[in-house]
Amino acid sequence: MKCHVCGSKLEKIITDMPFKLDNKTIIILKELPIWQCNNCTEFLLDDEVMKRVETILEGVNKAAELEIVRYAA
Ligand SMILES: [Zn+2]
Repeated sequence: MKCHVCGSKLEKIITDMPFKLDNKTIIILKELPIWQCNNCTEFLLDDEVMKRVETILEGVNKAAELEIVRYAA
């Protein structure tokens, strides 16, 4: 898989990534598998990963300002 911005190779890595839900809620997903460009800051999520992320984000406590969720749980 190649980066659509710079054309460099994407590498599959496991990382922690913040998602902003609304103006005050931030979710940090731990141990998320993503494709990271080794040349620029672009990254991609697999479709199945994106779907699971959406499911996780729907299920979080939106009253909290910060939630930390382990992706692989
Ligand atoms: Zn790139």
